[in-house]
Amino acid sequence: MRAVELLLATGNAHKVVELRALLEPMGIGVLVPSDVGGLPTVDEDGESFASNAERKARAAARAVNRWCLADDSGLEVDRLGGAPGVHSARYAGEHGDAGANNARLLAELEGVPEEQRGARFVCALALARPDGEIECVVEGEACGRILEAPRGDGGFGYDPLFLFTEPGHSASGTCFAELTLEEKDAVSHRGRASRALVERLNALPNA
Ligand code: IMP
Repeated sequence: MRAVELLLATGNAHKVVELRALLEPMGIGVLVPSDVGGLPTVDEDGESFASNAERKARAAARAVNRWCLADDSGLEVDRLGGAPGVHSARYAGEHGDAGANNARLLAELEGVPEEQRGARFVCALALARPDGEIECVVEGEACGRILEAPRGDGGFGYDPLFLFTEPGHSASGTCFAELTLEEKDAVSHRGRASRALVERLNALPNA
């Protein structure tokens, strides 16, 4: 199956930019909430990225009777027992305050040596059918470590503090905020999840 058009159930403009750049070249049309007159807000208080993504996709599909894709993502830091995790967007209190979130992260890791600053970004993408049934959930991860000071001026959220360390990639040893959109997409949690999603879509019969 190739779903021709998906509504992205997100109000995060950075996610829209990344997902559009990932999905459109693979033949998937992308709509955003403003194209359908907006979407209801959904509580993101699930215990996993996948369950939050499912909630968002299901609620959006039921509201607009379309195929909907939701992203729930965040940063897991080993030394912090996986925090901020599903609370990434509101780690410092206010939802989406990247400056405050990054400041808290740096404070929590103050004095922690490089080898104990391991972290990963995780992205769950949930695809809901127009009736709200979840068609599939896929995940992607990107591994690295948390820097002691921000670098770069691209990306969003925790990107200025995330050094990508997986060996064997040209982006290895680079901070996510120093990468172009294309370079980040090639190795990011969202890029990897999007490619897994497209594989799943292509394996479905007719639509
Ligand atoms: P969500 O809307 O609850 O999925 O919030 C995701 C939060 O995780 C964002 O607000 C960012 O703080 C963080 N995050 C997710 N993906 C990325 C990324 O690609 N780069 C930097 N931060 C990210």
